[in-house]
Amino acid sequence: MDQDQKIEFTSKPQSPTEAWDVVIIGSGPAALTAAVYTTRGAASTLILGGESWGGQLMLTTDVDNYPGFPEGIQGPELMEKMKKQAERFGAEFVQKNVTSVDFSKKPFELLIGETKYLAKTVIIATGAETKWLGVPGEDKLRGRGISSCAPCDAPFFKGKNVIVVGGGDSAMEEALVLTKYAQSVTIIHRREEFRASAAMQKRVTENKKIKIVWNTEVTEFVGEKKLEKALLKNNKTGETSELIIDGAFVAIGHIPSTEIFKGKIELDKKGYIAVKDHTRTNIEGVFVAGDVHDYNYRQAATAVGFGCMAAMETIKFLD
Ligand code: NAP
Repeated sequence: MDQDQKIEFTSKPQSPTEAWDVVIIGSGPAALTAAVYTTRGAASTLILGGESWGGQLMLTTDVDNYPGFPEGIQGPELMEKMKKQAERFGAEFVQKNVTSVDFSKKPFELLIGETKYLAKTVIIATGAETKWLGVPGEDKLRGRGISSCAPCDAPFFKGKNVIVVGGGDSAMEEALVLTKYAQSVTIIHRREEFRASAAMQKRVTENKKIKIVWNTEVTEFVGEKKLEKALLKNNKTGETSELIIDGAFVAIGHIPSTEIFKGKIELDKKGYIAVKDHTRTNIEGVFVAGDVHDYNYRQAATAVGFGCMAAMETIKFLD
Protein backbone atom coordinates (compact mmCIF):
# COMPACT_ATOMS: atom_id res chain seq x y z
CA MET A 1 0.00 0.00 0.00
CA ASP A 2 1.21 3.52 -0.84
CA GLN A 3 2.65 5.26 2.27
CA ASP A 4 0.30 8.24 1.94
CA GLN A 5 -2.74 6.39 0.79
CA LYS A 6 -5.34 6.41 3.55
CA ILE A 7 -8.45 4.30 3.40
CA GLU A 8 -11.57 6.31 2.50
CA PHE A 9 -14.15 5.32 5.07
CA THR A 10 -17.68 5.59 3.75
CA SER A 11 -18.79 5.17 7.35
CA LYS A 12 -16.75 8.05 8.80
CA PRO A 13 -19.04 10.37 10.82
CA GLN A 14 -19.78 13.64 9.01
CA SER A 15 -21.27 15.30 12.09
CA PRO A 16 -21.19 14.82 15.88
CA THR A 17 -24.57 13.08 15.70
CA GLU A 18 -23.14 10.24 13.62
CA ALA A 19 -21.29 7.28 15.10
CA TRP A 20 -17.80 5.97 14.41
CA ASP A 21 -17.65 2.27 13.56
CA VAL A 22 -15.01 1.82 16.26
CA VAL A 23 -13.77 4.02 19.06
CA ILE A 24 -10.65 2.76 20.80
CA ILE A 25 -9.94 4.06 24.28
CA GLY A 26 -6.22 3.98 25.02
CA SER A 27 -3.07 4.30 22.96
CA GLY A 28 -0.61 1.61 24.05
CA PRO A 29 0.41 -1.38 21.90
CA ALA A 30 -3.02 -3.07 22.26
CA ALA A 31 -4.94 0.05 21.23
CA LEU A 32 -2.73 0.98 18.29
CA THR A 33 -2.61 -2.57 16.95
CA ALA A 34 -6.40 -2.75 17.18
CA ALA A 35 -6.55 0.47 15.13
CA VAL A 36 -4.29 -0.97 12.42
CA TYR A 37 -6.65 -3.92 12.08
CA THR A 38 -9.97 -2.06 12.29
CA THR A 39 -8.95 0.56 9.72
CA ARG A 40 -7.68 -2.13 7.37
CA GLY A 41 -11.01 -3.84 7.96
CA ALA A 42 -12.58 -0.66 6.50
CA ALA A 43 -14.10 0.43 9.79
CA SER A 44 -13.91 4.15 10.57
CA THR A 45 -11.74 4.32 13.68
CA LEU A 46 -11.20 6.97 16.29
CA ILE A 47 -8.56 6.57 18.98
CA LEU A 48 -9.17 8.46 22.21
CA GLY A 49 -5.57 8.18 23.22
CA GLY A 50 -5.28 10.13 26.47
CA GLU A 51 -3.18 13.15 27.35
CA SER A 52 -0.05 11.18 28.13
CA TRP A 53 -0.50 8.77 25.25
CA GLY A 54 1.49 5.63 24.48
CA GLY A 55 1.18 3.69 27.74
CA GLN A 56 3.92 2.12 29.79
CA LEU A 57 6.43 1.88 26.94
CA MET A 58 6.71 5.68 26.95
CA LEU A 59 8.45 5.28 30.32
CA THR A 60 10.74 2.50 29.13
CA THR A 61 14.18 2.90 27.64
CA ASP A 62 15.61 -0.14 25.81
CA VAL A 63 13.06 -2.65 24.57
CA ASP A 64 14.99 -5.76 23.60
CA ASN A 65 12.22 -8.34 23.57
CA TYR A 66 9.91 -6.89 20.94
CA PRO A 67 10.24 -8.92 17.74
CA GLY A 68 11.52 -7.25 14.61
CA PHE A 69 14.12 -5.02 16.25
CA PRO A 70 17.28 -7.14 16.55
CA GLU A 71 19.25 -4.20 17.94
CA GLY A 72 16.45 -3.28 20.37
CA ILE A 73 14.42 -0.09 20.26
CA GLN A 74 13.59 2.73 22.67
CA GLY A 75 10.07 2.44 24.10
CA PRO A 76 8.85 5.89 22.94
CA GLU A 77 10.26 5.30 19.45
CA LEU A 78 8.38 2.00 19.19
CA MET A 79 5.15 3.73 20.21
CA GLU A 80 5.67 6.56 17.69
CA LYS A 81 6.05 3.92 14.99
CA MET A 82 2.88 2.10 16.09
CA LYS A 83 0.94 5.39 16.13
CA LYS A 84 2.19 6.33 12.65
CA GLN A 85 1.19 2.91 11.37
CA ALA A 86 -2.34 3.25 12.75
CA GLU A 87 -2.66 6.76 11.31
CA ARG A 88 -1.28 5.64 7.97
CA PHE A 89 -4.45 3.60 7.46
CA GLY A 90 -6.71 6.47 8.47
CA ALA A 91 -7.24 6.10 12.21
CA GLU A 92 -7.88 9.49 13.81
CA PHE A 93 -6.27 10.33 17.11
CA VAL A 94 -7.48 12.57 19.93
CA GLN A 95 -4.85 13.20 22.60
CA LYS A 96 -7.25 13.78 25.47
CA ASN A 97 -8.58 11.76 28.40
CA VAL A 98 -12.04 10.23 28.21
CA THR A 99 -13.98 11.57 31.18
CA SER A 100 -17.03 9.30 31.10
CA VAL A 101 -18.68 6.52 29.12
CA ASP A 102 -22.28 5.45 28.66
CA PHE A 103 -22.66 1.91 27.40
CA SER A 104 -26.39 1.81 28.14
CA LYS A 105 -27.14 3.84 25.01
CA LYS A 106 -26.83 2.70 21.39
CA PRO A 107 -24.71 4.02 19.83
CA PHE A 108 -22.41 4.16 22.85
CA GLU A 109 -21.57 7.63 24.15
CA LEU A 110 -18.09 8.69 25.20
CA LEU A 111 -17.37 12.08 26.69
CA ILE A 112 -14.21 14.16 26.76
CA GLY A 113 -15.38 17.06 28.88
CA GLU A 114 -18.30 18.56 26.93
CA THR A 115 -17.40 16.86 23.66
CA LYS A 116 -19.40 13.75 22.88
CA TYR A 117 -18.28 10.93 20.59
CA LEU A 118 -20.66 8.23 19.38
CA ALA A 119 -19.52 4.68 18.71
CA LYS A 120 -21.10 1.57 17.22
CA THR A 121 -18.40 -0.46 18.94
CA VAL A 122 -15.75 0.30 21.56
CA ILE A 123 -12.42 -1.33 22.27
CA ILE A 124 -11.17 -0.67 25.80
CA ALA A 125 -7.37 -0.71 25.87
CA THR A 126 -6.55 1.65 28.70
CA GLY A 127 -3.82 -0.56 30.17
CA ALA A 128 -2.57 -0.72 33.72
CA GLU A 129 -0.05 1.17 35.72
CA THR A 130 2.82 -0.31 37.64
CA LYS A 131 2.47 0.19 41.35
CA TRP A 132 5.62 1.84 42.62
CA LEU A 133 6.85 2.06 46.20
CA GLY A 134 6.85 5.85 46.26
CA VAL A 135 10.07 6.07 48.26
CA PRO A 136 12.76 8.74 47.72
CA GLY A 137 15.09 8.07 44.79
CA GLU A 138 12.68 5.72 43.00
CA ASP A 139 11.45 8.15 40.35
CA LYS A 140 14.90 9.51 39.65
CA LEU A 141 16.51 6.09 39.24
CA ARG A 142 13.80 4.40 37.20
CA GLY A 143 15.47 3.12 34.06
CA ARG A 144 18.85 3.60 35.75
CA GLY A 145 18.83 0.43 37.76
CA ILE A 146 15.22 0.42 38.90
CA SER A 147 12.78 -1.53 36.77
CA SER A 148 9.46 -3.33 37.00
CA CYS A 149 9.99 -5.83 34.22
CA ALA A 150 12.57 -8.59 34.55
CA PRO A 151 11.75 -10.24 31.20
CA CYS A 152 12.57 -6.85 29.62
CA ASP A 153 15.58 -5.77 31.64
CA ALA A 154 17.19 -8.84 33.29
CA PRO A 155 19.88 -9.23 30.58
CA PHE A 156 21.28 -5.80 31.56
CA PHE A 157 22.15 -7.26 34.97
CA LYS A 158 24.47 -10.06 33.95
CA GLY A 159 26.78 -10.90 36.87
CA LYS A 160 25.26 -8.14 39.02
CA ASN A 161 23.56 -8.01 42.41
CA VAL A 162 19.86 -7.21 42.35
CA ILE A 163 16.87 -7.08 44.65
CA VAL A 164 13.22 -7.81 43.97
CA VAL A 165 10.59 -6.11 46.13
CA GLY A 166 7.28 -7.91 46.70
CA GLY A 167 5.87 -11.25 47.79
CA GLY A 168 3.33 -12.17 45.10
CA ASP A 169 3.61 -14.32 41.98
CA SER A 170 5.07 -11.41 40.02
CA ALA A 171 7.91 -11.00 42.50
CA MET A 172 8.64 -14.75 42.37
CA GLU A 173 8.61 -14.70 38.60
CA GLU A 174 10.86 -11.64 38.40
CA ALA A 175 13.33 -13.25 40.83
CA LEU A 176 13.42 -16.50 38.86
CA VAL A 177 14.01 -14.70 35.56
CA LEU A 178 16.78 -12.65 37.14
CA THR A 179 18.64 -15.73 38.39
CA LYS A 180 19.48 -16.53 34.77
CA TYR A 181 21.62 -13.40 34.58
CA ALA A 182 22.36 -11.86 37.96
CA GLN A 183 25.01 -13.08 40.35
CA SER A 184 22.68 -12.74 43.33
CA VAL A 185 18.96 -12.03 43.74
CA THR A 186 17.54 -10.91 47.07
CA ILE A 187 13.80 -10.74 47.59
CA ILE A 188 12.78 -8.03 50.04
CA HIS A 189 9.32 -8.68 51.44
CA ARG A 190 7.41 -6.65 54.00
CA ARG A 191 5.90 -9.68 55.77
CA GLU A 192 7.23 -13.07 56.85
CA GLU A 193 5.26 -15.10 54.35
CA PHE A 194 4.69 -14.80 50.65
CA ARG A 195 1.34 -14.24 49.01
CA ALA A 196 2.53 -16.12 45.92
CA SER A 197 1.22 -19.54 44.92
CA ALA A 198 2.81 -22.56 46.61
CA ALA A 199 4.33 -23.76 43.34
CA MET A 200 6.07 -20.44 42.68
CA GLN A 201 7.27 -20.22 46.28
CA LYS A 202 8.77 -23.68 46.02
CA ARG A 203 10.71 -22.77 42.89
CA VAL A 204 12.04 -19.66 44.60
CA THR A 205 13.02 -21.26 47.89
CA GLU A 206 14.74 -24.12 46.07
CA ASN A 207 16.80 -21.74 43.93
CA LYS A 208 20.24 -21.32 45.50
CA LYS A 209 20.82 -17.93 43.89
CA ILE A 210 17.84 -16.39 45.67
CA LYS A 211 18.05 -14.99 49.18
CA ILE A 212 14.96 -13.80 51.06
CA VAL A 213 14.82 -10.93 53.52
CA TRP A 214 11.55 -10.97 55.52
CA ASN A 215 9.71 -8.20 57.36
CA THR A 216 11.70 -5.59 55.55
CA GLU A 217 10.82 -2.49 53.56
CA VAL A 218 12.85 -0.34 51.23
CA THR A 219 12.87 3.18 52.58
CA GLU A 220 15.03 4.84 49.94
CA PHE A 221 16.95 4.19 46.74
CA VAL A 222 20.30 5.91 46.54
CA GLY A 223 22.46 6.69 43.53
CA GLU A 224 23.71 9.62 41.49
CA LYS A 225 23.70 8.57 37.83
CA LYS A 226 22.60 5.01 38.53
CA LEU A 227 21.30 2.94 41.42
CA GLU A 228 23.96 2.24 44.01
CA LYS A 229 22.16 1.05 47.11
CA ALA A 230 18.85 0.51 48.86
CA LEU A 231 18.16 1.63 52.39
CA LEU A 232 16.16 -0.96 54.30
CA LYS A 233 14.18 -1.09 57.50
CA ASN A 234 13.09 -4.18 59.37
CA ASN A 235 9.51 -3.39 60.36
CA LYS A 236 9.57 -5.83 63.30
CA THR A 237 12.80 -4.71 64.97
CA GLY A 238 13.09 -1.19 63.55
CA GLU A 239 16.67 -2.01 62.55
CA THR A 240 17.94 -0.14 59.50
CA SER A 241 20.56 -1.30 57.02
CA GLU A 242 21.83 -0.64 53.54
CA LEU A 243 22.40 -2.99 50.66
CA ILE A 244 24.81 -2.25 47.82
CA ILE A 245 23.02 -3.25 44.61
CA ASP A 246 23.10 -2.72 40.87
CA GLY A 247 19.43 -3.30 40.21
CA ALA A 248 16.03 -3.25 41.92
CA PHE A 249 12.88 -4.79 40.48
CA VAL A 250 9.68 -3.50 42.04
CA ALA A 251 6.96 -6.15 41.74
CA ILE A 252 4.23 -5.06 44.11
CA GLY A 253 1.32 -5.25 41.69
CA HIS A 254 -0.41 -3.20 39.04
CA ILE A 255 -3.41 -0.91 39.00
CA PRO A 256 -5.72 -1.37 36.01
CA SER A 257 -6.87 1.90 34.43
CA THR A 258 -10.57 1.22 34.89
CA GLU A 259 -11.71 4.20 36.95
CA ILE A 260 -14.11 5.57 34.28
CA PHE A 261 -15.61 2.10 33.70
CA LYS A 262 -16.67 1.39 37.28
CA GLY A 263 -20.40 0.64 37.37
CA LYS A 264 -20.54 0.81 33.56
CA ILE A 265 -19.16 -2.61 32.64
CA GLU A 266 -18.38 -5.78 34.53
CA LEU A 267 -14.99 -5.79 36.26
CA ASP A 268 -13.40 -8.85 37.85
CA LYS A 269 -12.65 -8.96 41.56
CA LYS A 270 -9.22 -7.46 41.03
CA GLY A 271 -10.75 -4.48 39.21
CA TYR A 272 -9.71 -5.51 35.68
CA ILE A 273 -12.27 -5.61 32.85
CA ALA A 274 -13.94 -9.04 32.93
CA VAL A 275 -13.53 -11.01 29.70
CA LYS A 276 -16.43 -13.22 28.67
CA ASP A 277 -15.19 -14.93 25.56
CA HIS A 278 -11.99 -14.06 23.73
CA THR A 279 -11.99 -10.26 23.93
CA ARG A 280 -15.73 -9.82 24.49
CA THR A 281 -17.05 -8.13 27.62
CA ASN A 282 -20.48 -8.41 29.23
CA ILE A 283 -21.68 -5.60 26.95
CA GLU A 284 -22.31 -6.54 23.34
CA GLY A 285 -20.20 -4.39 21.09
CA VAL A 286 -17.63 -3.49 23.75
CA PHE A 287 -14.35 -5.37 23.49
CA VAL A 288 -11.20 -5.28 25.56
CA ALA A 289 -7.49 -5.69 24.85
CA GLY A 290 -4.19 -5.59 26.70
CA ASP A 291 -3.16 -5.02 30.30
CA VAL A 292 -6.56 -3.64 31.31
CA HIS A 293 -7.77 -7.26 31.33
CA ASP A 294 -4.52 -9.23 31.31
CA TYR A 295 -2.62 -9.27 34.58
CA ASN A 296 -0.64 -12.36 33.74
CA TYR A 297 1.59 -11.58 30.79
CA ARG A 298 1.69 -7.77 30.55
CA GLN A 299 4.11 -7.69 27.63
CA ALA A 300 4.04 -5.41 24.59
CA ALA A 301 4.04 -8.53 22.42
CA THR A 302 0.99 -10.00 24.16
CA ALA A 303 -0.82 -6.64 24.17
CA VAL A 304 -0.30 -6.44 20.42
CA GLY A 305 -1.81 -9.92 20.06
CA PHE A 306 -4.82 -8.99 22.19
CA GLY A 307 -5.28 -5.78 20.17
CA CYS A 308 -5.37 -7.78 16.97
CA MET A 309 -7.88 -10.25 18.46
CA ALA A 310 -10.16 -7.48 19.76
CA ALA A 311 -10.13 -5.75 16.37
CA MET A 312 -10.98 -8.96 14.53
CA GLU A 313 -13.86 -9.66 16.92
CA THR A 314 -15.04 -6.06 16.46
CA ILE A 315 -15.03 -6.30 12.67
CA LYS A 316 -16.93 -9.60 12.89
CA PHE A 317 -19.48 -7.93 15.16
CA LEU A 318 -19.89 -4.93 12.82
CA ASP A 319 -20.33 -7.24 9.83
P1 NAP B 1 -0.08 -9.29 44.19
O1 NAP B 1 -0.47 -10.71 44.18
O2 NAP B 1 -1.07 -8.25 44.57
O3 NAP B 1 1.18 -9.17 45.17
C1 NAP B 1 1.74 -7.94 45.45
C2 NAP B 1 2.84 -8.14 46.48
O4 NAP B 1 3.49 -6.90 46.70
C3 NAP B 1 2.33 -8.65 47.84
O5 NAP B 1 3.21 -9.59 48.37
C4 NAP B 1 2.31 -7.37 48.68
O6 NAP B 1 2.63 -7.59 50.02
C5 NAP B 1 3.44 -6.57 48.08
N1 NAP B 1 3.19 -5.14 48.21
C6 NAP B 1 2.11 -4.44 47.79
N2 NAP B 1 2.25 -3.12 48.05
C7 NAP B 1 3.46 -3.01 48.66
C8 NAP B 1 4.18 -1.92 49.17
N3 NAP B 1 3.72 -0.65 49.10
N4 NAP B 1 5.40 -2.14 49.73
C9 NAP B 1 5.89 -3.40 49.79
N5 NAP B 1 5.26 -4.48 49.32
C10 NAP B 1 4.05 -4.29 48.76
O7 NAP B 1 0.48 -8.80 42.78
P2 NAP B 1 1.28 -9.63 41.66
O8 NAP B 1 2.34 -10.43 42.25
O9 NAP B 1 1.64 -8.61 40.62
O10 NAP B 1 0.19 -10.61 41.05
C11 NAP B 1 -1.03 -10.10 40.53
C12 NAP B 1 -1.88 -11.25 40.02
O11 NAP B 1 -1.26 -11.84 38.88
C13 NAP B 1 -2.01 -12.36 41.04
O12 NAP B 1 -3.30 -12.91 40.94
C14 NAP B 1 -1.01 -13.37 40.60
O13 NAP B 1 -1.35 -14.70 40.98
C15 NAP B 1 -1.03 -13.22 39.08
N6 NAP B 1 0.26 -13.59 38.50
C16 NAP B 1 0.44 -14.90 38.18
C17 NAP B 1 1.65 -15.32 37.67
C18 NAP B 1 1.85 -16.74 37.34
O14 NAP B 1 0.98 -17.54 37.63
N7 NAP B 1 2.93 -17.11 36.70
C19 NAP B 1 2.69 -14.41 37.49
C20 NAP B 1 2.49 -13.08 37.83
C21 NAP B 1 1.26 -12.68 38.36
P3 NAP B 1 1.60 -8.33 51.01
O15 NAP B 1 1.70 -9.78 50.65
O16 NAP B 1 2.13 -8.00 52.36
O17 NAP B 1 0.27 -7.74 50.74
